[in-house]
Amino acid sequence: MKNMYSERVTAMKFPSLYAIAELAKGYRDVIFLNVGSPDIRTPEHIINATKRALDEGYTRYTNLEGIRELRDAIARKYNEKYGLDLNHKNVLITVGVTQGIFASIMSYLRPGEKVLVPDPWYPGYLRSTILAGGEVVTVRQIEEKNYNLDLDELNEKIDNKTKILILINPNNPTGAVYDYKTLKGIAEIVSDNKIILVSDEIYEEFTYVGKFHSILEFPEILDKVVLINGFSKAYAMTGFRIGYAISTEESIKQLAKVTLATGLCPVSISQYAALAAIEGPREPIREIIKIFDRRRREIVAGLSKIRGINFVIPKGAFYIFPNISFYGIESIDLVKYLVKEARVVAAPGYPFFGPSGKGHIRIAYTVDIEQIKEACRRIKEALEKLIECENQSKNSKYKTESN
Ligand code: PLP
Repeated sequence: MKNMYSERVTAMKFPSLYAIAELAKGYRDVIFLNVGSPDIRTPEHIINATKRALDEGYTRYTNLEGIRELRDAIARKYNEKYGLDLNHKNVLITVGVTQGIFASIMSYLRPGEKVLVPDPWYPGYLRSTILAGGEVVTVRQIEEKNYNLDLDELNEKIDNKTKILILINPNNPTGAVYDYKTLKGIAEIVSDNKIILVSDEIYEEFTYVGKFHSILEFPEILDKVVLINGFSKAYAMTGFRIGYAISTEESIKQLAKVTLATGLCPVSISQYAALAAIEGPREPIREIIKIFDRRRREIVAGLSKIRGINFVIPKGAFYIFPNISFYGIESIDLVKYLVKEARVVAAPGYPFFGPSGKGHIRIAYTVDIEQIKEACRRIKEALEKLIECENQSKNSKYKTESN
């Protein structure tokens, strides 16, 4: 069967994250900081709604676009928040944000067209673009400017082959949150060009510093926007696989053809769980966000004490993206070293998170405070050892050379 596979599939590689997780299996007492899945239990009222949906027999296919009550509730949330006039026809329920990404890219991208993706990136966009036969073009998020998007570069990179611009706000892996001015600049660029903006706002609730701004705050570009969001993170529901896309009625119809081809409909009982989540009390979410903010402070404090680790303090999501170039080793090798020496698993910045991931690792603070403290202690110890070894080998080299 070799050489018979589609090139669009063989062009995709399994993430190096998987290999690292496999390596970690060989060690005991490992702290996993590589997983973007909240460790917190799904709030009780959501679990109960899922059980109720099962008991009441909601176990069959639902509407292709998702259950009406959930689509209504999502439209209502955005109307109330941003003074919009959306209805259920503007909302498509998807199998996680992942299917929303795929449906958006498949619906708009013609083979050979380009998708502009901020670098460092979340790799889901790369995979969908490859499957759609398109090309990813990167736009830098500048580390020295708190990972803000370089709008000049963005403008320069748009040409007549550019079809889609992706935004991830708050950002995975950098933890950056775009301010109003940046979003306004982006909205102007979208308005001036024949492009579609896909805005992934899955970490919306995880904004710890400043205020979160949605792209839906810019009504002048609404007919060029697909907003994608979901329930995985804020409600600790990664396994339920529910996301949604918001766009014009016509756009939603096109996206629904892709979800028809790739899933028929989202999981029935998960949709009732999502309905309970969006209509339920806000308190559990506030609690989850508070927990993550405490963890964020702890990881920032812990990593600040480690020589050779520099980072932009994250304002959102639940990741930190330290620059480890001081150590002069590839990020994948440093991550492997940390697994072996510290029994701590981080994600290598390169190639998983794009060209700018070189010299970086991504740490997900999705474990409790005690584990974060212990992980920082172990990383510090392991990296100090590395510096010591380096010094020793320099000294012995010097001695050999001078002998
Ligand atoms: N978008 C971003 C930016 C993510 O970080 C992730 C998961 O880590 C996803 C989408 C996938 O979300 P879902 O679980 O809803 O498919």
